[in-house]
Amino acid sequence: MTGFYEKLLGAADKDHIKIGEEMRKHTSFRVGGPAACFVIPADETELSGVMALCREEEVPFFILGNGSNLLVGDEGFDGVVISMDSFCSCQVNKETGIVTAGAGASLKRIAQEAYKASLTGFEFAAGIPGTLGGAVVMNAGAYGSEMKEVLKSVRVMTAGGEVRDLPADQLSLGYRTSCIIPKQYVVLEARIRLRDGDEVSIKNRMDELAGRRREKQPLEYPSAGSTFKRPEGYFAGKLIEEAGLRGFSLGGAQVSEKHCGFVINKDHATAADIRDLCEEVKKRVFKNSGVALEMEVKTLGKF
Ligand SMILES: Cc1cc2nc3c(=O)[nH]c(=O)nc-3n(C[C@H](O)[C@H](O)[C@H](O)COP(=O)(O)OP(=O)(O)OC[C@H]3O[C@@H](n4cnc5c(N)ncnc54)[C@H](O)[C@@H]3O)c2cc1C
Repeated sequence: MTGFYEKLLGAADKDHIKIGEEMRKHTSFRVGGPAACFVIPADETELSGVMALCREEEVPFFILGNGSNLLVGDEGFDGVVISMDSFCSCQVNKETGIVTAGAGASLKRIAQEAYKASLTGFEFAAGIPGTLGGAVVMNAGAYGSEMKEVLKSVRVMTAGGEVRDLPADQLSLGYRTSCIIPKQYVVLEARIRLRDGDEVSIKNRMDELAGRRREKQPLEYPSAGSTFKRPEGYFAGKLIEEAGLRGFSLGGAQVSEKHCGFVINKDHATAADIRDLCEEVKKRVFKNSGVALEMEVKTLGKF
């Protein structure tokens, strides 16, 4: 990447660029080595400039939300991490029930804004610690609801730097998946359609779900939530438990004793500990049940 930084200065303000930023600061697992460059574009112009430069120079780049579904290797990422932090607007139209928010807005904040406007339908997302962009990409969901049910449209930047509005039904939203990554789109903004509701019921539902999370999930440890996707017809956590892996550890990583579907950073785990533990869990679950677990968590960089 020799000379790349100088060129990057032509695409983004110096204050929006960090060199060698430790990714552990940006992942909910609290692991991950340095990103060669870490850019927080202020707007669409900087974003498209940085992406165009990366393409021209054949430097890989990665779009970061809140890093809550991400495992970055200990050796870091030899490319550009692009944080969507500045795209964090959130506007609520109480009359139409439409919430328009930037990709970097947190789900928690959007849920709070919806609640303040007595709009219902987003309570399920209040406890998911990601951004709106990450939630669209993953079709995030919880407690029987998912983004697909509330998403109206998204504004994306294509690989060629063109900005397009796409209705939700063009995003191939499925269980923890969408076409955003395969099509190399960057989510800039999304519109969510909610319904008129009752403030007290909305608050009660959010409190109830938060209580269920606290009770069932190891929120006291760094993790990326459910590590594996739910295999059709099974529950990953149950399969892991049946394979005798509750509390199973490798280095500082552990299958949570509280919830077997969560791999946690129990005690100064490295990214390699977490990755190796996940591989071992997959092997043993397959041996025990014949079911192949698939990672829900995305990985990035060298381990
Ligand atoms: C304690 C805990 C509980 C959780 N509970 C749930 C849950 O109940 N349900 C659930 O579905 N998930 C859950 N998760 C996982 C995670 O919060 C979700 O997957 C969330 O949607 C990820 O959002 P993020 O902004 O952190 O994305 P990141 O982890 O930053 O990124 C995830 C992927 O999306 C891509 N991406 C992010 N933003 C954009 C963008 N603007 N444009 C294009 N690509 C983008 C990234 O490149 C990456 O591939 C939980 C995680 C934790 C730690």
